[in-house]
Amino acid sequence: MSNAPFLPYGRQILAEDDIQAVVDALKSDWLTTGPRVGLFEKAVCDHTGAKHGVAVNSGTAALHAAMYALNVSKGDEVIVPAMTFAATANSVLYCGATPVFADVSLDTLLIDIESVETNITAKTKAIIAVDYAGQPCDWDALRSLAAKHNIALVADACHAIGGAYKGASVGTLADITVFSFHPVKHITTGEGGMAVTDDELLASKMRAFRSHGITTDAHQREKEGAWFYEMTDLGFNYRITDVQCALGVSQLAKLDDWIAKRNEVAGWYDSKLNSSSAISLHKAENVRHAYHLYVVRVDDRDAVFQRMRADNIGVNVHYIPVYLHPYYQKLGYEKGLCPNAEKAYEQIISLPMWVGLEEADVDRVVTSLVG
Ligand SMILES: *Cc1c(COP(=O)(O)O)cnc(C)c1O
Repeated sequence: MSNAPFLPYGRQILAEDDIQAVVDALKSDWLTTGPRVGLFEKAVCDHTGAKHGVAVNSGTAALHAAMYALNVSKGDEVIVPAMTFAATANSVLYCGATPVFADVSLDTLLIDIESVETNITAKTKAIIAVDYAGQPCDWDALRSLAAKHNIALVADACHAIGGAYKGASVGTLADITVFSFHPVKHITTGEGGMAVTDDELLASKMRAFRSHGITTDAHQREKEGAWFYEMTDLGFNYRITDVQCALGVSQLAKLDDWIAKRNEVAGWYDSKLNSSSAISLHKAENVRHAYHLYVVRVDDRDAVFQRMRADNIGVNVHYIPVYLHPYYQKLGYEKGLCPNAEKAYEQIISLPMWVGLEEADVDRVVTSLVG
């Protein structure tokens, strides 16, 4: 084992002003839903250019809210990439609908447009595309496909806040875009998530959904008395707290600098890895990559993984194709469904990628990787 300090693949950065923001919230009158929830939603909208934000207690809850708002239900199909975190597909199952796995392109590991098209049927209600590793998908192609078949388009942008595609910010590229604020993501609220949309109706549905399906229309309250509210649909308690949103607002102010730093770290990796033929790097043009992950492909992945862990480097694998998990196997999805995702899964390894890395850390990672 190495004596060098452990380098995680990702981690949060908390500064004194973040801590102070949380302390201020704790000293205020509001612990759960208060003014900071709306402030955080507005801050994310201002940053991304989206019109409406609905903050919830996880990215997974935001995905669930998105599926609900789009009326995804039993008998519907939703196309998702095989190469993602399970939550993307789980959100479809929560609504009683069927996830249909599209394969990914081997060079980018983003959802493959042809595979999406092949999988569209009369039952397809929506596509959830994932900006894998922080690299925006081919949103022009996805949008025209969705429009042609009259299906909804959701961006699982849990890897990609702060990214952009052809000059448009992530958050404005799909009907609904979902972010996560888990500590391993770009900015954190501990646990937390948000769905953003330009569609007022979708936003109001998601807002009711996060709070038991209760609508509190101010005008109606005035008419009926201040105590009046109605539960109009079966929602959940997916509320995020004011304390968490205080942290979110404070963290968001740093996002631009952090995206720049992540791109700098990626640049170090790029320049140090280019010559190695064992490694192929994923990159698209015309985008601002948010670099949640820095993923490389190696031939002997398991050996490389063992070696790097022995060197105290917290490498990881993102992801096992979702349908290979035992739960999905029990549902009847079979091995071989998405050959590119399965092939990539054998080779990929996520290197440390976060804001606190120095160039010397990257040197250490590369030395261990190349072996
Ligand atoms: C992190 C993540 C989620 C879930 O977010 P949580 O906030 O952990 O619930 C969903 N999809 C992708 C691609 C993610 O990386």
